[in-house]
Amino acid sequence: MNWEDWGQIGKEIGFSHVVPLEVKTLRLLPEVRQMCQSNSCRMYGKNWSCPPGCGTLEECRERIAACSSGILVQTVGQLEDEMDGEGMMETEARHKESFQKLHDRLLLAGEDVLAIGAGCCTRCKACTYPDAPCRFPKKCFASMEAYGMLVTEVCRDNGLQYYYGPATIAYTSCFLFR
Ligand code: SF4
Repeated sequence: MNWEDWGQIGKEIGFSHVVPLEVKTLRLLPEVRQMCQSNSCRMYGKNWSCPPGCGTLEECRERIAACSSGILVQTVGQLEDEMDGEGMMETEARHKESFQKLHDRLLLAGEDVLAIGAGCCTRCKACTYPDAPCRFPKKCFASMEAYGMLVTEVCRDNGLQYYYGPATIAYTSCFLFR
C-alpha cells in the first residue's frame, strides 16, 4: 500500500491530517534531545522509549537512515480557551489512541515501520525499564522529541500546518517505512 492508502486509513481511524513525509527533511537536533534531560515530563530514564533508554542520537539517526519514506499524522483539537487543560488531555488521548491503532494496522499488514509518536511509549501500564527488556520491541515507540526532532520544523518542511489558531491544539507523530 502507498502513503495515500495509509492516509485514508489514518483518517478513518480518527486523525485530522495525514501527509507524506520526506525522510531527508528530518534533522535530529542535540538541543531538542537535551530538553528531555530537564525532565519536565518526568519520564526521563523511566521508559525504554525515552532517553537514555531509546539510544543515543547517533543510534536514532541510524534507524532513520534505514527508512526511505514516511507519513506524518496529526490530531487537531478545539479547546474551550487557551487554559483548557482537560481539552488538551482529551486531544492527546485521542491522538495516542489513533496512533496505536494505525501502528497496529501497519504491523498487521507486514509493514516494516519505525513509529515515532507524541510522548513516550504507553503500550504497557508500567514499562519494564530498566530491569527487564522491552515487552513489545516491535510495538514500542519513542517520541519525536526523544529523536531530537523539532515538531514545528518537521511540519513546516513537509507542508503540514502546526498552528490552527487560538484555542486549538495539535499533536503530531510519524511513521517511517524501512
Ligand atoms: S512496550 Fe512496554 S516495555 Fe516496551 S517501551 Fe513500551 S511501555 Fe516499555
